[in-house]
This record gives sequence, structure tokens and C-alpha cells, in this order.
Amino acid sequence: MDLQQIKQLNKQTAKSYNDQKALIKRVLMGKPAKCPNCQQSLQFLAPQDGSVAKITCAKGCTDIELDLS
Ligand SMILES: [Zn+2]
Repeated sequence: MDLQQIKQLNKQTAKSYNDQKALIKRVLMGKPAKCPNCQQSLQFLAPQDGSVAKITCAKGCTDIELDLS
């Protein structure tokens, strides 16, 4: 892998990280947000006993664990 490829990869990772952060923000603010994969609505799952808060879609392709602590 040459330097150019590494740069490109970093850029893509940063972009999807920012996209994910934007999605999380929308859901937490109660705004409609859709899964980029299946276009289903994303929903916020409050933490249950022993589990963390999550943002998921109906199909499960989006499954983001939130570290709220
Ligand atoms: Zn999905």
C-alpha cells in the first residue's frame, strides 16, 4: 500500500465517522434519520440492564453503540 492509498483510506474513514456522528446527533435530537444501508428509520434504544444505549435500524445493519458515560 503506498502513501496515496493510505491517505485515501484515512479520508474515507474520517468521512464515515463524521456521517455516523451526524446520524447519532439527529436521532438524539429526535429528528428523523435513516439507515444509510436499508433506508429504514433509525431508532434510539435506551440502555437496558447491563447493556449500553444503541442506535439501530429495523434490519440491524446499523447498530451503533453509544458511550454516554
Ligand atoms: Zn439498516
